[in-house]
Amino acid sequence: MSDFGREDAIALYNVDRWGGGYFTVNKRGNVTVMPNGSSDQKIDLTEIIREAKSRNLSFPLTVRFHDLLRDRVETINRAFADAIAESGYQNVYRGVFPIKVNQLREVVEEILDAGKPWHFGIEAGSKPELIAAMALHSDPESLIICNGYKDTSFIRNALVARKLGKIVILVVEKLEELKHILKVAADMNVEPMIGLRVRLLSKGAGKWATSGGENAKFGLSTADLVRASDMLAENGLSQALKLVHFHVGSQVPDIGTIKRAVKEASRFYAKLSKMGHQIEYLDVGGGLGVDYDGSRTTFDSSTNYSLNEYARDIVYSVMEVCNAEHVAHPTIVSESGRAIVAHHSVLIVETFGSIEKNSISTDTVTAEPGDPPLVQDIIELSENIGKKNRLESLHDAQEIRERAQSMFDLGMLDLRAKARIETVYWQIAEEVVAMFRGMRYIPEEVKEMEVALGDQFLCNFSVFQSLLDHWALGQLFPVMPISRLNELPDRNATMVDITCDSDGKVSKFVDLQDVKETLPVHRWVPGEPYYMGFFLVGAYQDIMGDMHNLFGRVNEMHIYLDEDEDAGYYVEEVLPGSTIGQVLTLTQWDTNELARRIKAQVDAAIKGDRLKPNEAMKLLDDYEKSLNTYTYLNFDDQNTK
Ligand SMILES: *Cc1c(COP(=O)(O)O)cnc(C)c1O
Repeated sequence: MSDFGREDAIALYNVDRWGGGYFTVNKRGNVTVMPNGSSDQKIDLTEIIREAKSRNLSFPLTVRFHDLLRDRVETINRAFADAIAESGYQNVYRGVFPIKVNQLREVVEEILDAGKPWHFGIEAGSKPELIAAMALHSDPESLIICNGYKDTSFIRNALVARKLGKIVILVVEKLEELKHILKVAADMNVEPMIGLRVRLLSKGAGKWATSGGENAKFGLSTADLVRASDMLAENGLSQALKLVHFHVGSQVPDIGTIKRAVKEASRFYAKLSKMGHQIEYLDVGGGLGVDYDGSRTTFDSSTNYSLNEYARDIVYSVMEVCNAEHVAHPTIVSESGRAIVAHHSVLIVETFGSIEKNSISTDTVTAEPGDPPLVQDIIELSENIGKKNRLESLHDAQEIRERAQSMFDLGMLDLRAKARIETVYWQIAEEVVAMFRGMRYIPEEVKEMEVALGDQFLCNFSVFQSLLDHWALGQLFPVMPISRLNELPDRNATMVDITCDSDGKVSKFVDLQDVKETLPVHRWVPGEPYYMGFFLVGAYQDIMGDMHNLFGRVNEMHIYLDEDEDAGYYVEEVLPGSTIGQVLTLTQWDTNELARRIKAQVDAAIKGDRLKPNEAMKLLDDYEKSLNTYTYLNFDDQNTK
């Protein structure tokens, strides 16, 4: 048992596979983060936990590593630059960040700042996103791309940005939108820059595949494209068509899908160019996946390609079609969101209890005089389990337990006897499962028993707030304990959250071959804090959460590397999560009115001599103070360590 070390932990949780070079485990058995992808600068997550506590920040806590975000931006831009240099492609890459993937101001600002050398821009899919993007955007060479359905005000704002000298491209999602844009532009006397979203036949696979294909919600059919081209020509605006766009969906697991789609779209670009438009950009949308389980397969939560392969395949595919069609190489635009932001944030959650099947007793149950025969039977059974009869023993134990249940239903078994039978039953189950551990062939029923024996870790967070896609789409995220990783994790557990919803749990875990139903963990010790890390949650999750049970936003810490600091980093900013008063206000409760009502009840209690005035005022004060506290549970007064 003492042999278990960091290498074993890294292998057990596949850290090297999903970690992308940003996460590892140190000698002390703690998860560490390498925000710039190099082992020279590491941050121990338990250090961050200590820091958070010293600032009275409780859990759940989202930790953002800004250097990691910068590293992602640089890595993607370099991948395209390298592919372009290597292939002799005759144009450049100009990526944009789709704000919807993480709209947090600090995140968007960091991405644009890191992307400056490459004129990295922004993609907006709604009015609020455009309003934010316009103000933040300052580089006249970088793009603002407007996707999504648009009304007059959306279009007007985009054209205002045109007047400010920005490259703003309005991507037409359906034909009527083009008419509308041309009209608003004429009214405002500004020449628009138009993009056309083409509807490809190539369709993705995976959970988000419906953004592409013939039945997609967005995009112009071939007939519509021809009409759009004619409409522009009729208005003397053929030159306003600047971009051809497609988006096959997010988290595309198979590179084959990307290649097919890029070639199909390049053909549209080439043919439209030949119809007399000076198209400058080919926008390949999002879809660049993240290998959440580290399996490098076409499984939904994985990808069978690397970033470099993705960039190379796009560049070469565009080039091949353009060369064959004898048209100029366009500037390549991509809208990768997930691949930029997924890695940068880690959710740290505190476990505050564990429901164990056999929590009643790990002591041996011995026969007592007067025990009903079923108790005697199961005790005898437990004393005679051997390698040869282990499966048979399990079956016999199951039968005794069923008979005990029938007797209990008929009122013929008391609680104490039933408890003794169940205790021995789970002990037998545990013993049999342990006997099969590490075997090459494990019978299906034993595997099921292993899952049934798993603990349920009570975790202080809301799946609906912090891990929405796990609940909604069954997406997998890497999860692991943050410390004690030089100790063998000899329990298996699922994670349940604190919402009053049986769906509020994590019971599917990443695995190289399969999906696991329990996660190896250490035994939870009462009074000793035990933290779980949920990784790669920076894309969509930490910004998209809902208000189930009114838990609201979680506390955040923003971290920057700094060699001059003893700890190797500094906390640039702390964002407090939602308070009880804030979430109540969002749902129309007036906190003053709430306090007034409690005061009236307190006054009545004083009048009726049910409370003394001093005590009553203290209760009122407590109530009012809770309105300013964090919505999640706080166990600081229960932890002994
Ligand atoms: C959501 C979306 C993206 C981002 O996709 P990722 O797979 O997260 O990179 C890009 N473009 C459009 C049009 C989108 O709707």
